[in-house]
Amino acid sequence: MKQNRLFLLIAVLLGVGLWTYGTFFALPRPPHRRPVGATSPGNRRVEKTDAEWRGLLTWAQYRVMRDRGTEWPNSSPLTNEHRQGTYVCAGCRNPLFASHTKFESGTGWPSFYAPIVPNAIYTEPDGNRTEVRCSVCDAHLGHVFEDGPEPTGLRYCMNGVALAFVPTR
Ligand SMILES: [Zn+2]
Repeated sequence: MKQNRLFLLIAVLLGVGLWTYGTFFALPRPPHRRPVGATSPGNRRVEKTDAEWRGLLTWAQYRVMRDRGTEWPNSSPLTNEHRQGTYVCAGCRNPLFASHTKFESGTGWPSFYAPIVPNAIYTEPDGNRTEVRCSVCDAHLGHVFEDGPEPTGLRYCMNGVALAFVPTR
């Protein structure tokens, strides 16, 4: 009995250790493959190696955009951004959402009812959710849910850290 507990402890420590190593140190991520048939505005593409993305993005951005993480709710100042402008991808500047499609979802994440153009993003199944990615650089942006407001009934629940806001001048 005592030995079983020891083995369990060792297994848990090993698991936590491996997770920490994979998360915080350089386990290279294979590039994400865009679904067949997906397009992007102007057929623009930005493809970089994992090392290049690590150099370009902050740690928090990398965790979300290249490693499909989720930022803490209410952690992004963009959740409460109300100016007119355009939300672009923080990785490649691809315009993603217009400010007039932003709404107060109360979730703590910036929420929109539609992308700025249909192929600014693409979606992929993610368990029982639907993942949203940037169509130019394949960055993970967040998820889309079917409980949004009119006219689409969709709620694009975005990680603010994956977006940059460009106000209208
Ligand atoms: Zn992008």
